Amino acid sequence: MQHISKDTRQDILQPTQKALLRHIPKVDTLLAHADLQDFDKAFILPLIYEYLQALRDSILQGAKPSTDINTHAKNIKSQALQAQAPTMQSVINATGVVIHTNLGRSVFSQEIMEQITPLLTAYNTLEYDLHKGKRGERYIHATQILAQMFGVESALLVNNNAASVLLILNTFAKDKEVIISRGELVEIGGSFRIPEVMKSASSILCEVGATNKTHLHDYENAINEKTAMIMKAHQSNFKQVGFTKDCHIKELITLAKKHNLIDYFDLGSGHCGILSLKDEPSVSEICKYKPSLLSFSGDKLFGGPQLGIILGKKELIEQLKANQLLRALRVDKFSILALIATLQAYRDKAYHKIPTLNMLLIPLEKLESKARHLQSLIAQSCMSQKVQVEVLRLSSLAGGGSVPHIEFESWGLSLQSKILNAKAFEEKLRLQGLITCIQRDKILLDMRTLLPHDEEKIVMILESVLGQGND
Ligand SMILES: *Cc1c(COP(=O)(O)O)cnc(C)c1O
Repeated sequence: MQHISKDTRQDILQPTQKALLRHIPKVDTLLAHADLQDFDKAFILPLIYEYLQALRDSILQGAKPSTDINTHAKNIKSQALQAQAPTMQSVINATGVVIHTNLGRSVFSQEIMEQITPLLTAYNTLEYDLHKGKRGERYIHATQILAQMFGVESALLVNNNAASVLLILNTFAKDKEVIISRGELVEIGGSFRIPEVMKSASSILCEVGATNKTHLHDYENAINEKTAMIMKAHQSNFKQVGFTKDCHIKELITLAKKHNLIDYFDLGSGHCGILSLKDEPSVSEICKYKPSLLSFSGDKLFGGPQLGIILGKKELIEQLKANQLLRALRVDKFSILALIATLQAYRDKAYHKIPTLNMLLIPLEKLESKARHLQSLIAQSCMSQKVQVEVLRLSSLAGGGSVPHIEFESWGLSLQSKILNAKAFEEKLRLQGLITCIQRDKILLDMRTLLPHDEEKIVMILESVLGQGND
């Protein structure tokens, strides 16, 4: 490439270009402009430099931009406002995927938030024993209720379920072997893979069986003096069909006991038996077999805050507490409070306080009437001419690494714009915060994941999006 020096370049400039370059506003003038003077200087200055550089380049390339300083100030202001806009904002989930990891997994109800707010907006006894006037332990607040609810000796909380797996492996299987079926070396959400987590925990992976079939004797034959644990992980985001065989938790517990090993079950989602899920035992049902340890996520089917819930034998939980790593994986006060409020809702059978459960329990007729209601709202609005709306049956997913083989029958709407193709329509809706799916050139809105008042917001978004494409 040939390098052109600035002087030579000036020589070949047209007189109009020279005039335009002379009209580029001064940095100080822009800084003092009414539109820009209220921004923090350290924030706005780099934007001004960047803008002016782009302006200069465009003139050199032959463009004829405005010479009005007010136009430039307005452009910079709009860029500044865009840069300051929060990237995390509320959206409407019309995908029908209830536990949508990209959209924040389980939603909190107003009731739960109101219940915990007074404790969050004041000092509290997170790690303080009022009776003794001494330091207490943050884990005790939820231990008792968890132990009672699931019928286990003890419990522990960590930051998320990935942390549960890491802590358990690191505590009991550091430099030791963990036996696990080849069919359970799962990857969840791209960043959590059982083999990699084992490596991080300094455990030695001992995979047994085949991808589709693992027998009890596969586990038994693999046991040696370096074995510390038998682990089973939930196939949370895929399902094997055809000729498959895995071992029941009960068999693995018996085998572990016989050889004086620890059995550990990473249940992934873990549910409390309120939903009847085919082939998916609830946490309480599994706890009846008295496993050494099990863990699951707080914000999947359980419907609470992000955390890892570890249940099991008291003696083992005490050893987990003694691991230095726990300090780095420690759960915060918000999650503890939200968990307790969620557990209380379970205890009181107040499932309406747990939106994830609520969405999965909505009766089919209610979803249909919701769809018909939204259809009529759209028909009454000014867009009825611009969009074709049909009510149709859909099937939703629980999502979020929970029960991939179970579909929940649902109802929804299909939308077809008369001006925009499905891809452009979906993008415009998305940029306004309405997350949808496309199927056969139509936009689908699943009623299952809509929250109260979402219908009115959807109508407003449609009006704004289709209004833009006006004639
Ligand atoms: C989801 C999942 C995890 C990770 O849980 P997080 O709470 O997302 O950290 C671990 N194991 C299994 C089997 C899972 O399904």
